[in-house]
Amino acid sequence: MLPEIVIDLKKVEHNAKTVLSLAHQAGIEVVAVTKAVLAEPQIAGAILRAGVKMLADARIENLERLRRHFPNVPLMLLRLPGLSQIEDTVRLAEVSLNSELKVLRALSQEAKRQGKTHRVILMVDLGDLREGIWAENLPELAQEAQNMPGLIVEGLGANLACYGGVIPNAKNLGQLVELAGELEKGCGLHLKVISGGNSASLPLLVKGELTRGINQLRIGEGILLGRETVKRQLLPGADPDAFVLRAEVLESQDKPTVPVGHIGQDAFGETPEFEDEGWRRRAILALGRQDVPPEGISPRDERLKIFGASSDHLILDLTGAPELSVGSVLEFNLRYAGLLGAMTSPYVHKRFVNTRSQNPEFRSQNEIRVYPEQDNELLPY
Ligand SMILES: *Cc1c(COP(=O)(O)O)cnc(C)c1O
Repeated sequence: MLPEIVIDLKKVEHNAKTVLSLAHQAGIEVVAVTKAVLAEPQIAGAILRAGVKMLADARIENLERLRRHFPNVPLMLLRLPGLSQIEDTVRLAEVSLNSELKVLRALSQEAKRQGKTHRVILMVDLGDLREGIWAENLPELAQEAQNMPGLIVEGLGANLACYGGVIPNAKNLGQLVELAGELEKGCGLHLKVISGGNSASLPLLVKGELTRGINQLRIGEGILLGRETVKRQLLPGADPDAFVLRAEVLESQDKPTVPVGHIGQDAFGETPEFEDEGWRRRAILALGRQDVPPEGISPRDERLKIFGASSDHLILDLTGAPELSVGSVLEFNLRYAGLLGAMTSPYVHKRFVNTRSQNPEFRSQNEIRVYPEQDNELLPY
């Protein structure tokens, strides 16, 4: 069924191995983040086969899914637990990321109630302005948390390049390591983990410049799409197309590039603007915003260009590829937003394959691929 996202589990596994080998050279533990793929068990399984030891997700539902399929794999809750999620957090996650005293207290009580010890990583905001306590308030929080029964303050963590786009570097990550040192001296805490961010920390790792003292990274995009997230460069040796989106052409006709008539609002309340490129061969695909955000995809065939999309249609410039027409199936590479959208949409069919080609770089863009039958059985990990 189209549209579909073709997920090459061999490539995901390969990318996970690529990240792991980079990390292991530097003594870094990799926690694999599955939220962009809704903790899809086939994908999580591929990541575990590569040798990853811990999985992380932002959502309780996803942790539930992971727990069901992988009962013995330690799990981390990535998003700060809500006060309404305390029971689930302690039940499903060995570790959670935290910044609120009230929540830590609730976790402590619940851990006691469930007869568990729950590990927490205290999040520090190093300037990106998403989650985390401001550094000067950290010692007080750490001291309080340290004395809470049922909790182990396992370490410090930070998240950068998410909201504010702040790039991880020696200065901000150095500050995290320094804070940990101060806490160990001042409060007698033993901080086992210093969790130095997400795929935006990978460029430092590639260059061998990741701040000493950082010993954990939480990696999603780096594994799934094989890219770091500062400049979105491919990691050395990684495979760029573990995920490929495919959709069908419904109409292919020559039309102008500027609409005819007075222009008001479009379907989404925006007033669109158009550049006059004359008459073009325009294709309409059965792929819309309800499937994937058009900003998150790019045609694998470089002759094609996206004009725009509505809820159920993608409009594309087909002029450069005269052999394509109604019934042609076009392929797209996905960026993070595209992957997230396609995986989340119930209209995009998920197809799993196990075919890492030897030479992804040299495969022709227009080659029509024959995929083996879907293998729905969960492979051992
Ligand atoms: C999403 C997320 C990650 C992973 O981010 P990637 O850019 O996909 O590597 C890591 N840490 C936290 C707290 C997150 O929310």
